[in-house]
Amino acid sequence: MLKVLPILLAILYALAMYRFSVWRTKRELDARSTELADPRLRELCDRMAKALDLARIKVHIYEIDPVNGLAAPDGRIFITRGFYRKYRNGDVSAEEMASVIAHELGHVALGHSRRRMIDFSGQNALRTALAMVLGRIIPGIGVWIASGLTSLLAARLSRSDEYEADAYASALLTKAGIGTAAQKSLFGKLEALTQSRSGAVPAWLMSHPKTADRVAAIEKLEAKWLAT
Ligand SMILES: [Zn+2]
Repeated sequence: MLKVLPILLAILYALAMYRFSVWRTKRELDARSTELADPRLRELCDRMAKALDLARIKVHIYEIDPVNGLAAPDGRIFITRGFYRKYRNGDVSAEEMASVIAHELGHVALGHSRRRMIDFSGQNALRTALAMVLGRIIPGIGVWIASGLTSLLAARLSRSDEYEADAYASALLTKAGIGTAAQKSLFGKLEALTQSRSGAVPAWLMSHPKTADRVAAIEKLEAKWLAT
């Protein structure tokens, strides 16, 4: 019994953390967001909604500066004020914004956004439980191995999520008649932004795989669609 106690405690801790994170995220987003009303973007969203047989796709603006798109655990899509400003300034086109919305829709449709919150709270708990178990088998470096294993698993999971969300977006943008050109050009723009202002990496790129790899993955999909 004593041996499984740390694991049980870790699971309970993870559950509590998950509930708390979902509640805190929802409260923060409710307090600091408004619905997106830009007519050009609404029109593109309506086209995507039609392609998905949905009445409409609701997008919200989250009042923070870092350039980012988010999919909340409850399925709502958010674009940050900083990202929206880039669109209003003409740095990012309406189609490019639509590609971000499509990517975030992919995270929601594929169940990533909910799982990610579980991952986030579960990671700490898993790390703790693994460290306790491994620490007993290999004193000293057991903790270090547990930490490495957990991070590796998390990185792998989020990477495959990004490729899946990109593929979903490519299919949706193609079906809606918007096309994938904007999806690819946005990656290049965000990367240029990173290089011109060192240190200010857009959050949306930071949590995602390499730009060249993402473009290559989209092109591979397109080649496959053209062949069939
Ligand atoms: Zn993503």
